[in-house]
Amino acid sequence: MKSNISDKRELLSERCDWCGAVIRDGSEHYSLAPDPSLILSSDPRLGDRLPNACSKEHLAALYDHYRRRPFVQEELWAGRIARALENTTGELTAKDLTDATGLNLEQIERCRAWLEAQLYRHAAAPGGAASDTRR
Ligand SMILES: [Zn+2]
Repeated sequence: MKSNISDKRELLSERCDWCGAVIRDGSEHYSLAPDPSLILSSDPRLGDRLPNACSKEHLAALYDHYRRRPFVQEELWAGRIARALENTTGELTAKDLTDATGLNLEQIERCRAWLEAQLYRHAAAPGGAASDTRR
């Protein structure tokens, strides 16, 4: 397939995380915002997002959005545990899991309880598994 210059610009462009505008001229704005739902591949301990915006106003809106979102440690730990489980071919012992995540057993237990609470909340929500009458 033959490519042209506009295809390359599209590949090199960024999208504003707030409004979705394509930024082709390198004028995007970045800032680091706390986000426990994000685990970077380079450092699974981080929970920071690097929002990208077309303007200072949209960057401020994004940062405000992430700042208002509750930072739940257990959510960040769940990501670290999921990463450890993804990177193994077999079962992990408790020591394997603590070594791979940097978490202690109490943190892992708090994370497990948090995940169960999320599953229960999801199942109990309208349209969730608990409301499915086809069983
Ligand atoms: Zn924007």
